[in-house]
Amino acid sequence: MNALLEYFTARRDDVLSLTRQLVERETPSRAEAPLREIAAFVAERFQELGAYVELTPVAGYGTHLCARLHQDAAHTDGQQLLIVGHLDTVWPLGTLARLPFRITEAGTAHGPGVFDMKAPIAALLEALRAIKQLNLSVNRPLTVLLTCDEEIGSRTSRALVEEEARKSVAALVLEPPITGGVVKTGRKGIGVYEIKAKGRAAHAGLDPTKGINAIVELAHHTLALAALNDYERGVTLNVGEFNGGTTSNVVPAEAVAHVDLRFWQQSDGEHLCRTIEALQPQLDGAELEIKGGINRPPMERSPRNVALFEHARGLAAELGHELKDTVVGGGSDGNFTAALGVATLDGLGIDGAGAHAEHEHILIEDIPRRTALLTRLIQTL
Ligand SMILES: [Zn+2]
Repeated sequence: MNALLEYFTARRDDVLSLTRQLVERETPSRAEAPLREIAAFVAERFQELGAYVELTPVAGYGTHLCARLHQDAAHTDGQQLLIVGHLDTVWPLGTLARLPFRITEAGTAHGPGVFDMKAPIAALLEALRAIKQLNLSVNRPLTVLLTCDEEIGSRTSRALVEEEARKSVAALVLEPPITGGVVKTGRKGIGVYEIKAKGRAAHAGLDPTKGINAIVELAHHTLALAALNDYERGVTLNVGEFNGGTTSNVVPAEAVAHVDLRFWQQSDGEHLCRTIEALQPQLDGAELEIKGGINRPPMERSPRNVALFEHARGLAAELGHELKDTVVGGGSDGNFTAALGVATLDGLGIDGAGAHAEHEHILIEDIPRRTALLTRLIQTL
């Protein structure tokens, strides 16, 4: 067996134990105090490794963590390596009581956020610990950015991610892989819109003709938007939430729809935005208020991303593992780094399944493999 793989196999239970400590700190997005607390806990782990840590608290959200390591490994091109992850999860406080951290005989570890992405953070810390302890060489300075609002669209962290990405030769993203450890070289872009229709209220029995039905107005647009789906091209548009009216005997004065857009190409996303923003009222006297836009640009499967994947594939092969890649419809902070032209490899978390679902788990046997791969990537990029 490869020496590094052997080393991490012996250390597997230590990674699991740190994973457990991270999972047992529940950190839903916007839970400011728990997110501040986990950032402090993780910051201490980084400081033990000699990292210089900056904590950025954001009122109402939590704390972003930026750790800088290997600062003496100044590469001649002046660029750093960036690793991006997040400390928040989609699970509300109290989930742990119902779904406690547990290890099964089948070799899986379960718990809220274990797959997305507490175990990958533990694996990264272990990789960095090994680099220090074994005195392994590295090529360039490393910045690790762990944000606290990725699961709600990275509203307060996007600028930080982009600022660090601009200084980086490559970005590695610790999001969960597709089952089988399959990494992600492309992601769809995402847009969101809120469309509000305004009509006029009236008594449905006494004065029906005096009313303007906002639900009917918005229904026209819902059907028009549904017709824009182009599955072959990967352009999808989902009216996922629709609210309106007050009670059945009143003509509704207001209705609101929330729309999710996905696209492989930025130009398709921009075209969708223009189409939505140009919607015109269909009923006499109705009005529309339209808010929104592109939230995450697509992470196109660029030659840079493919070259980075090929490099990782070579390292994985040395570890006796065949690494595969794919493209997916979901977004991550990798969308931001890739859109700046920075080579990006996403899905570097631990193999498993069930992100955002009750059966969320990791495969324990993948911990040494992925930790070794992360180590080799940090060493060689
Ligand atoms: Zn995630």
